[in-house]
Amino acid sequence: MIDKEDILKVFDNLNKKYFQNLLYRPIFDWETFSTDEIYASFDSFGRRIIFNRTCGKLNNEVILIEVLLHEMVHINLYEKYNDKKDHTDEFWQELKILYDKEFHGNGEKLIEMQKKLCRNWA
Ligand SMILES: [Zn+2]
Repeated sequence: MIDKEDILKVFDNLNKKYFQNLLYRPIFDWETFSTDEIYASFDSFGRRIIFNRTCGKLNNEVILIEVLLHEMVHINLYEKYNDKKDHTDEFWQELKILYDKEFHGNGEKLIEMQKKLCRNWA
């Protein structure tokens, strides 16, 4: 199981790299979700990113980065609009830009996968 220190390190790194350190640090929590297909979820009210305790895939750093960037775009858009708008076109556009940079132009591919598994990316 990844721990908070590891997540914080990756989060801070991504925040610096892509958000000029402007994103607030959310609280990182673990809960047991109804299915291990769900990796994480952003709780705007509690300013938390909740990871699925049963999702072992989060131990992989590449997947952790993918998941964190997804949730960080939620934080960013939520801060902009003060309203939780889920997977809008703007959301996917912003995420694609980050994925293209982080994953060497593979943004489109990753986004397509996530859209298919949309319920897994809350
Ligand atoms: Zn989402």
